[in-house]
Amino acid sequence: MKSYRIQTFGCQMNYSDSERVTSVLDRCGLCLAGENDSPDVLIFNTCSVRQRAEDKAVGAMRDARKQFPAARIGVTGCMVRQTGTAADSRDQLLKLDSVDFTFRIEDAARLPKILSSFSGFENVLPEFENFFGTGEIENYFRIAPKVKNPAQVFVPITQGCDKFCTYCIVPYTRGREISRPIGEILDECENLVRAGAREITLLGQNVNSFVSDGEKSFPELLKKVDELHKIGLSRTRFTSAHPQDFTDEVVDVLAKMKTACPYVHLPVQHGSDRMLRAMNRNYSVEKYEKIISNLRKKIPNCTLATDVIVGFPGETEDDFWQLCEVARRMRFDFSYTAIFSPRKNTPASRMKKDFIPQEQKRERFHAFDTIVKDSAFARREKFIGQTLEILVESSQPQLGGTFLNGGRSREFLETYFLSDQSLIGKEVSVKITGRKGYVLDGDWVGKNKGKQKPAGLRAV
Ligand code: SF4
Repeated sequence: MKSYRIQTFGCQMNYSDSERVTSVLDRCGLCLAGENDSPDVLIFNTCSVRQRAEDKAVGAMRDARKQFPAARIGVTGCMVRQTGTAADSRDQLLKLDSVDFTFRIEDAARLPKILSSFSGFENVLPEFENFFGTGEIENYFRIAPKVKNPAQVFVPITQGCDKFCTYCIVPYTRGREISRPIGEILDECENLVRAGAREITLLGQNVNSFVSDGEKSFPELLKKVDELHKIGLSRTRFTSAHPQDFTDEVVDVLAKMKTACPYVHLPVQHGSDRMLRAMNRNYSVEKYEKIISNLRKKIPNCTLATDVIVGFPGETEDDFWQLCEVARRMRFDFSYTAIFSPRKNTPASRMKKDFIPQEQKRERFHAFDTIVKDSAFARREKFIGQTLEILVESSQPQLGGTFLNGGRSREFLETYFLSDQSLIGKEVSVKITGRKGYVLDGDWVGKNKGKQKPAGLRAV
């Protein structure tokens, strides 16, 4: 039996895509390679959000070629433009000695055909055809994913992006934005909940631009997913959202849902309207703050995460000061803060005359980070002494027969605690006892009762 290994880089979307690729490879009759085995097929699911991410992936491919010279090495994800092998494709990556084939993720169903063109893999295609009844499936979303953690699953609802932020390569790599049919999404969600999912995260570059029948329909979709609480869904999350389509209706629906979590990740990117315009972000700081104020009015204990770019070309001291003021007013619970680095082939990479010196960008990053830590740590400390509901994502055996469990609360707070058994995939009550940086520690206070009632939003 041939074996495979997949190495995934980048965002949650890529991890979710890798679950579909896993499913295809399993159906081809390949098996997952053991940690110490040499895989026959190695797939790199790549990210190109930053140049460094691409360099890292290429380095990993070169190392893999040295370590496993006989393996067939394939690449998918954001770095790939064309599907095929050197015989029928002109993808740039095929010029690397370490790469045998590439496939656009939308072409995942063509993977068996590509593999079967290599000697020793001739049997791969017939097995795949037997499974599906046809040689290819046009829509890769229809491939049921082989989920890593059945309790906590990720469901793509949109693909691509139409926003063209000036620093971002996604619209060029992932293509224009398309939404999956709502029925297909709901079927997948229902199947996953029936198979044990407690938490569903809806994925997309801009989830709230989701369209059904030509209309913006994200609130509708949320309401329908929420119905799955009747068969055991406890938590609905989504990422990433964009301020442009974060309407009052979205907030109203979230406030009423039984499975919504009091946590929103809404990228602001900057606190100066001038910088937002330079980034081609089509909202103002005022609009962002209005959304958050409405959110906090309707869901008083909602935690808030954001994305910020510090040191964008042309950022003045005054722009940066405005960004810091926004952080002080918004009291973020977390910020994915990036120091601007030019991504080749984006408009921002051509703003060279306005580039900020590296040292200055670093200083601004640290100053901004200190402000975020102040609000984030203070907020976490308020939870000490309270009991949170944790969905366990990892459970590591410790000396002495205990397990160290890690998971997240409904507020998306990462929490660790000990137990006398593995609790992976369970939702349990944990009394918070302390904070280390962004992470909380606690004591397990309630035994899991198996099938629990969905909790819904609650006051903290
Ligand atoms: S919204 Fe902007 S940052 Fe997000 S994926 Fe689209 S272009 Fe990139």
